[in-house]
Amino acid sequence: MNELMIGNYAIARGFVEAGLEIAAAYPGTPSSEILPGIVEFSKRENAEIHCEWSVNERVAYEVAYGAALYGKKAACMMKQVGLNVAFPAFYNFKHHEIKGSFVIVSCDDPGPQSSQTEQDTRMLCTFMDVTCFDPSSPKEAADVAYFALRLSFETKRPIVIRPTHRVSHSREAVPLYRPGKRRVRLKEGLISKGKTAKLGIVASGMSFSVAIDVLTELNLIRMIPVYKVLRVHPLDTKVKEFAQSLQKVLILEETDAVIEAKLNDSKRVYGRLNGFLSGAGELTYDVIKEAITSLCRDSGIEVQNEIDYALEDLSKTINIVPRPPKLCSGCPHRACFYAMREAFPEAIFPGDIGCYTLGIPLGAVDTVVDMGGSVSLASGFYNVFSKENRNIPILASLGDSTFFHACLPAIYDARKKNKKFILVILDNGTTAMTGMQPTPQTGITAKGEKSRSISIEATLRALGIENIRIVDPYDIPFVINTIKEAHHHLQKGEGPFAIISRRECLLLSKRRFEVKIDLEEVCTGCKRCIRYFDCPSLEFDEKEKKVKINRDLCVQCGNCLYVCPAKRKRLDSL
Ligand code: SF4
Ligand code: SF4
Repeated sequence: MNELMIGNYAIARGFVEAGLEIAAAYPGTPSSEILPGIVEFSKRENAEIHCEWSVNERVAYEVAYGAALYGKKAACMMKQVGLNVAFPAFYNFKHHEIKGSFVIVSCDDPGPQSSQTEQDTRMLCTFMDVTCFDPSSPKEAADVAYFALRLSFETKRPIVIRPTHRVSHSREAVPLYRPGKRRVRLKEGLISKGKTAKLGIVASGMSFSVAIDVLTELNLIRMIPVYKVLRVHPLDTKVKEFAQSLQKVLILEETDAVIEAKLNDSKRVYGRLNGFLSGAGELTYDVIKEAITSLCRDSGIEVQNEIDYALEDLSKTINIVPRPPKLCSGCPHRACFYAMREAFPEAIFPGDIGCYTLGIPLGAVDTVVDMGGSVSLASGFYNVFSKENRNIPILASLGDSTFFHACLPAIYDARKKNKKFILVILDNGTTAMTGMQPTPQTGITAKGEKSRSISIEATLRALGIENIRIVDPYDIPFVINTIKEAHHHLQKGEGPFAIISRRECLLLSKRRFEVKIDLEEVCTGCKRCIRYFDCPSLEFDEKEKKVKINRDLCVQCGNCLYVCPAKRKRLDSL
């Protein structure tokens, strides 16, 4: 029986069929759906699998690793930058042998689509000398997960699976088997023989699947030989032999030049390292098509089905309104960011990773480095400003999940050293950006059962922070006053000062409000709400020189009524 599913669920399916016993993860796009997939399939198969969302990737890694050391079949899941968080443990395992099996899934994000950087997990595996698989489709990802968990058990070595976001999030019909009965069909090596020795392709991951599509479309599938790499490290020596049998070889891989560097043949190899392909970014369908076509032209290979630029030209004539990523209409973070900027426009605003990174266009986030970076950076800024005797307010923002994930040591450190800055904790009750996973405060397990809730304010107090205020971000004037009061207090008192901006994520509450939004009636065209509030429901009509409300998007939270100088209405708490 087949079932249509995304790659992340396919990985989950492979694990459950292979007899997984322990799974731990920290949510991060593109990896977030693997753990919920394991929960779902374990219920369906009546399999006893312990599943947990960990407070961060290092904890997830160590929870699974500990179980594997003891003899269990364990896996942990994270995104590529999450592996950095787990790196101390990842680096150390070289020296240990496991009794059970241990598979690490680190999902990469070429592009990057939803990360601060792109980063190639395969590179880290080469550096660490760890076996690494790069699946090219959801179906293959299911087989790889099944195979890897069993291989790890046999070899007593950890194994890494590295899907990219196109594998994690594309859908395919995946065959289902009873646990322990999966028929694994892993394909690696010369997939298509091809008639010519002038040009060949070595490809891995999603780039392989796209290359096959392009060659089929260009009627070149029987002409150009293709070598598929599934296990990127250790690389099969046959790849080198294949490359040496050709005049030119195109390497298609995401995102770094891992295979290309291993081939170490700058004469015939074309890829990212020799500058033929861009050194960064996703290898999209268009990029691969252009690369194959141009190398064919240079090698004298006839391309029958050339690129149809007419369609591309036509698409350029369509006037698509650019829509940069924005916080949702009515997002509580927007109101809080607005208040932060209103209170101190000249402040410095260290920010963090999450939906609230989108405070950048609101002028309330100046820096985004890594999970937890907001607090340590605020400490660093304070050191500089206090030495130079400059009284610049510092407003560090972070989310509730990030607070527990990476901020606690930095907050404790800042308190111990009496760093005077304002900590704005944007508490929306969930890990919103990655799909509403629970935080330690939520008090719900990965399986949806009740667990102990850890309160943010109690944790802050335990870290030595005495000054804590809780505000409703929709009460914008109150938030502004609280921030000003906090700054005033820091002049004489001790730091840091914590403000918890608490209101549920709108996607979680799915709420619409009942405030009458009549901005259009009073709008003078000053554009203040567009510039400083950036709500997706506010559009400026250039003809009428007035703001228009997109009623389909607007949730009638009414925050814009305070932002508009012609209206300026304080709402009672909703
Ligand atoms: S998902 Fe929630 S937290 Fe994220 S932007 Fe939307 S409302 Fe805000
Ligand atoms: S009321 Fe204003 S701020 Fe709220 S969603 Fe509508 S336009 Fe945006």
